Amino acid sequence: MSGNAKTERPLPLIDTETRSFWESCQDGHLVLPYCEHCQQFWFPPTSACPRCLMPVQTYRPVSGRGEVYSYVIYHQAYHPAFPPPYNVALIQLEEGPHMISQLIDINDQEIKVGMPVQVVFREDQGRKLPFFRPRSE
Ligand SMILES: [Zn+2]
Repeated sequence: MSGNAKTERPLPLIDTETRSFWESCQDGHLVLPYCEHCQQFWFPPTSACPRCLMPVQTYRPVSGRGEVYSYVIYHQAYHPAFPPPYNVALIQLEEGPHMISQLIDINDQEIKVGMPVQVVFREDQGRKLPFFRPRSE
């Protein structure tokens, strides 16, 4: 293995259930599956509402706003594409569902539970992925 080759991040898998989500990310929009019957969003995308099991009818745009529900700072390398230290955050979206992501534009030491954040899309290997950055309230 060449020491000069940049190790690329493994990208999220696109399958039937997640295609609409990732296609919207590619357009710079955060959408979530929405159940007309329960009138609720959920994440991650599945082919049926986790509450009533109705098939997914729609994806709706969401604000992209939320807050840090929890987070961890990794200090050990588990994959060569993710050199430590780095954060992994659980974001509670305004619309209710939680999403695992990474906080950017902030030092790991400044991350706080409850801090307001906003989605931002960054391109990696031609794919736009949702990250979150701090926002002022
Ligand atoms: Zn439902």
